[in-house]
Amino acid sequence: MTSNREKKRSIKQGVEELRSKTGWDPTSFTAKSSEEQLRDLNQEKRTSTIYDDETDSKCSECLKCRQESGDPTALCETHLTEAMGF
Ligand SMILES: [Zn+2]
Repeated sequence: MTSNREKKRSIKQGVEELRSKTGWDPTSFTAKSSEEQLRDLNQEKRTSTIYDDETDSKCSECLKCRQESGDPTALCETHLTEAMGF
């Protein structure tokens, strides 16, 4: 019975250790994901607007390129090639 109690205690300790590590702390995890949620929300907004018929507004690769380059007209490789008429 003693070993069982010790096991339980060590599991609890392990969970607390995990929580104290970065990425497992509920507070910092929420802060990270809320930023991502905002990004997703912006993407959803864009896809559900009147620009819906524009192919590049639906493309997550294009959006990624725009975020990375800071250029709102940036296109992913596929759509850049398409835009150039290839
Ligand atoms: Zn694209």
